[in-house]
Amino acid sequence: MAGTKTLTMIKPDAVRDGHIGAILNQINEAGFRISAMKLTQLSQADAEAFYAVHSERPFYGELVEFMTSGPIVAAILEKENAVEDFRKLIGATNPAEAAEGTIRARFAKSIGENAVHGSDSDENAEIEGDFHFAGREQF
Ligand code: GDP
Repeated sequence: MAGTKTLTMIKPDAVRDGHIGAILNQINEAGFRISAMKLTQLSQADAEAFYAVHSERPFYGELVEFMTSGPIVAAILEKENAVEDFRKLIGATNPAEAAEGTIRARFAKSIGENAVHGSDSDENAEIEGDFHFAGREQF
Protein backbone atom coordinates (compact mmCIF):
# COMPACT_ATOMS: atom_id res chain seq x y z
CA MET A 1 0.00 0.00 0.00
CA ALA A 2 1.22 3.49 -0.79
CA GLY A 3 2.67 5.33 2.22
CA THR A 4 0.72 8.05 3.94
CA LYS A 5 3.46 10.35 5.16
CA THR A 6 5.94 12.86 3.70
CA LEU A 7 8.25 15.51 5.15
CA THR A 8 8.34 19.01 3.76
CA MET A 9 10.46 22.05 4.49
CA ILE A 10 9.49 25.52 3.34
CA LYS A 11 13.03 26.66 2.56
CA PRO A 12 14.74 29.93 3.64
CA ASP A 13 14.02 31.72 0.34
CA ALA A 14 10.26 31.19 0.57
CA VAL A 15 10.16 32.07 4.28
CA ARG A 16 12.17 35.28 3.61
CA ASP A 17 9.80 36.20 0.77
CA GLY A 18 6.70 35.83 2.96
CA HIS A 19 5.24 32.76 1.24
CA ILE A 20 4.60 30.53 4.29
CA GLY A 21 0.85 31.19 4.31
CA ALA A 22 0.33 30.76 0.56
CA ILE A 23 2.32 27.51 0.48
CA LEU A 24 0.52 26.03 3.51
CA ASN A 25 -2.80 26.99 1.91
CA GLN A 26 -1.88 25.19 -1.32
CA ILE A 27 -0.83 22.13 0.72
CA ASN A 28 -4.16 22.15 2.60
CA GLU A 29 -6.20 22.62 -0.59
CA ALA A 30 -4.42 19.59 -2.07
CA GLY A 31 -5.80 17.44 0.76
CA PHE A 32 -2.78 16.95 3.01
CA ARG A 33 -3.21 16.84 6.78
CA ILE A 34 -0.46 18.56 8.81
CA SER A 35 0.50 16.15 11.60
CA ALA A 36 3.61 18.04 12.83
CA MET A 37 4.93 21.56 12.15
CA LYS A 38 7.53 24.06 13.38
CA LEU A 39 9.47 27.19 12.43
CA THR A 40 13.13 26.39 13.02
CA GLN A 41 16.64 27.02 11.67
CA LEU A 42 19.09 24.29 10.65
CA SER A 43 22.62 24.43 12.03
CA GLN A 44 25.56 23.59 9.75
CA ALA A 45 25.69 20.08 11.26
CA ASP A 46 21.91 19.63 10.82
CA ALA A 47 22.00 20.59 7.14
CA GLU A 48 25.08 18.45 6.46
CA ALA A 49 23.36 15.46 8.05
CA PHE A 50 20.01 16.02 6.36
CA TYR A 51 21.65 16.25 2.92
CA ALA A 52 24.44 13.70 3.57
CA VAL A 53 23.29 11.71 0.52
CA HIS A 54 24.39 14.69 -1.63
CA SER A 55 27.79 15.15 0.06
CA GLU A 56 29.74 14.21 -3.09
CA ARG A 57 27.73 16.51 -5.38
CA PRO A 58 29.33 19.78 -6.55
CA PHE A 59 26.46 21.86 -5.12
CA TYR A 60 26.61 20.37 -1.59
CA GLY A 61 28.42 23.33 -0.01
CA GLU A 62 26.07 25.82 -1.63
CA LEU A 63 23.06 23.73 -0.56
CA VAL A 64 24.20 23.60 3.09
CA GLU A 65 24.96 27.34 3.08
CA PHE A 66 21.53 28.14 1.64
CA MET A 67 19.60 25.81 3.94
CA THR A 68 21.23 27.34 7.03
CA SER A 69 20.76 30.95 5.83
CA GLY A 70 17.50 31.57 7.68
CA PRO A 71 14.47 29.96 9.28
CA ILE A 72 12.52 27.18 7.61
CA VAL A 73 9.13 25.61 8.27
CA ALA A 74 9.36 21.84 8.73
CA ALA A 75 6.17 19.79 8.58
CA ILE A 76 4.97 16.21 8.35
CA LEU A 77 2.11 15.85 5.87
CA GLU A 78 -0.32 12.94 5.68
CA LYS A 79 -2.41 11.72 2.79
CA GLU A 80 -2.79 8.49 0.84
CA ASN A 81 0.19 8.21 -1.59
CA ALA A 82 1.77 11.21 0.16
CA VAL A 83 5.33 11.09 -1.26
CA GLU A 84 4.33 10.87 -4.91
CA ASP A 85 1.37 13.25 -4.66
CA PHE A 86 3.44 15.85 -2.83
CA ARG A 87 6.24 15.69 -5.39
CA LYS A 88 3.61 16.32 -8.07
CA LEU A 89 2.31 19.30 -6.08
CA ILE A 90 5.78 20.87 -5.71
CA GLY A 91 6.98 20.24 -9.30
CA ALA A 92 10.45 19.62 -10.74
CA THR A 93 13.63 20.47 -8.80
CA ASN A 94 14.43 23.19 -11.36
CA PRO A 95 11.54 25.70 -11.27
CA ALA A 96 12.12 26.45 -14.97
CA GLU A 97 10.97 22.87 -15.61
CA ALA A 98 8.22 22.76 -12.97
CA ALA A 99 4.65 22.38 -14.25
CA GLU A 100 2.47 25.48 -14.15
CA GLY A 101 0.70 26.02 -10.84
CA THR A 102 3.08 23.82 -8.84
CA ILE A 103 4.60 25.29 -5.68
CA ARG A 104 8.06 25.56 -7.22
CA ALA A 105 6.70 27.13 -10.42
CA ARG A 106 4.90 29.73 -8.29
CA PHE A 107 7.50 30.48 -5.62
CA ALA A 108 10.99 29.13 -6.46
CA LYS A 109 13.81 31.30 -7.76
CA SER A 110 16.32 28.75 -9.06
CA ILE A 111 17.35 25.08 -8.94
CA GLY A 112 19.10 25.75 -5.61
CA GLU A 113 16.66 28.20 -4.01
CA ASN A 114 13.59 26.18 -4.88
CA ALA A 115 11.12 27.07 -2.10
CA VAL A 116 10.25 23.60 -0.76
CA HIS A 117 11.55 20.14 0.05
CA GLY A 118 9.59 16.93 -0.36
CA SER A 119 10.75 13.43 0.67
CA ASP A 120 11.64 11.13 -2.23
CA SER A 121 10.54 7.78 -0.71
CA ASP A 122 8.40 6.38 2.09
CA GLU A 123 11.55 5.25 3.88
CA ASN A 124 13.10 8.73 3.73
CA ALA A 125 9.81 10.33 4.80
CA GLU A 126 10.04 8.34 8.06
CA ILE A 127 13.72 9.18 8.58
CA GLU A 128 13.23 12.89 7.76
CA GLY A 129 10.10 13.15 9.95
CA ASP A 130 12.01 11.73 12.90
CA PHE A 131 14.98 14.02 12.09
CA HIS A 132 12.82 17.10 12.73
CA PHE A 133 10.24 15.91 15.27
CA ALA A 134 10.23 13.99 18.54
CA GLY A 135 7.46 11.43 18.91
CA ARG A 136 5.45 13.73 21.18
CA GLU A 137 5.49 16.45 18.45
CA GLN A 138 3.84 14.13 15.88
CA PHE A 139 0.03 14.00 15.98
P1 GDP B 1 14.63 17.42 -4.92
O1 GDP B 1 14.37 16.02 -4.43
O2 GDP B 1 13.69 17.85 -6.02
O3 GDP B 1 14.67 18.44 -3.81
O4 GDP B 1 16.07 17.44 -5.63
P2 GDP B 1 17.46 16.71 -5.27
O5 GDP B 1 17.27 15.64 -4.24
O6 GDP B 1 18.08 16.33 -6.57
O7 GDP B 1 18.35 17.88 -4.65
C1 GDP B 1 18.17 18.31 -3.33
C2 GDP B 1 18.26 19.81 -3.29
O8 GDP B 1 19.57 20.21 -3.66
C3 GDP B 1 17.35 20.55 -4.28
O9 GDP B 1 16.01 20.69 -3.83
C4 GDP B 1 18.05 21.89 -4.41
O10 GDP B 1 17.77 22.75 -3.30
C5 GDP B 1 19.52 21.47 -4.34
N1 GDP B 1 20.08 21.30 -5.68
C6 GDP B 1 19.84 20.31 -6.58
N2 GDP B 1 20.54 20.50 -7.72
C7 GDP B 1 21.23 21.66 -7.54
C8 GDP B 1 22.15 22.40 -8.35
O11 GDP B 1 22.46 22.03 -9.49
N3 GDP B 1 22.67 23.55 -7.80
C9 GDP B 1 22.34 23.97 -6.54
N4 GDP B 1 22.90 25.11 -6.07
N5 GDP B 1 21.50 23.29 -5.75
C10 GDP B 1 20.94 22.16 -6.24
